[in-house]
Amino acid sequence: MAESPIYNPSTPLADLAQSLRQAQRVVALTGAGVSAESGVPTFRGPGGLWRNHRPEDLATPQAFKRDPRLVWEWYDWRRGLIAKVSPNPGHRALADLEHLVPEFTLITQNVDGLHRLAGSRNVLEIHGSIWEVRCTGCGRVAEDRRVPLPLMPYCEACGALLRPNVVWFGEALDPARLQTAHEALRLAEIMLVAGTSGVVQPAASFALWAKESGARLVEINPDPTPLTPYCDWVFQGKSGEVLPALLAAMKTVPV
Ligand code: NAD
Ligand code: ZN
Repeated sequence: MAESPIYNPSTPLADLAQSLRQAQRVVALTGAGVSAESGVPTFRGPGGLWRNHRPEDLATPQAFKRDPRLVWEWYDWRRGLIAKVSPNPGHRALADLEHLVPEFTLITQNVDGLHRLAGSRNVLEIHGSIWEVRCTGCGRVAEDRRVPLPLMPYCEACGALLRPNVVWFGEALDPARLQTAHEALRLAEIMLVAGTSGVVQPAASFALWAKESGARLVEINPDPTPLTPYCDWVFQGKSGEVLPALLAAMKTVPV
């Protein structure tokens, strides 16, 4: 976005920058779009298909039961892809934002780990991590960064098959993480929603809960989503461009 970094309260970006500087509690919710500029395909955009399979048909417990090797091959391919990419300016701007707001919570649906790599600390990975495996027998969770993975991977403790420690379509979120997310949403004065299509539940309803509890909503997405009509600020652009411009504007706000 070609916004001037000079403080000018008449633009929506500067207006939001000022409101963010005054806020005590801010939440951001990110989705696959935030990692798109790093080269990680979104599920619904170009590059979402793999060997003619739709992600919605692979990221399910039923698919894993039917053909675990196929699902693991897909995850192994995604892990290989993510291992080669780096956080982009959007990830870095969100990591910076954590230092400018007294209480900042980043809720992400992404499983790629790029927010932590960019330096974000208060991150709730509500859909898990592609870098963790979970045993289908004993339930043990472990970090596993091998690329490629041996296919199929088995548990060292009990010998049962491992699965990716991610939340698949139709599975419940971790209740403790969900509770922490709810609390942050309830208290948020401003909520940023970046790079999410707003169609995957329950994250899609997070913004509406926050709004009901009094938060003002910001959307950053090149395309409109079902959430757009509810937002107080809408920036139709890429998160890797809008978020750094927003951070630059925040740094010029007189405090
Ligand atoms: P989605 O694929 O449904 O939607 C992506 C959204 O990002 C779209 O609205 C699109 O317009 C927007 N977008 C595309 N490029 C953008 C950019 N440069 N800046 C800002 N926005 C941009 O993704 P979703 O809503 O996150 O839901 C899909 C599910 O798939 C999630 O649960 C997530 O866990 C998973 N997923 C994760 C990754 C990852 O970890 N990187 C990648 C793909 C899918
Ligand atoms: Zn085990």
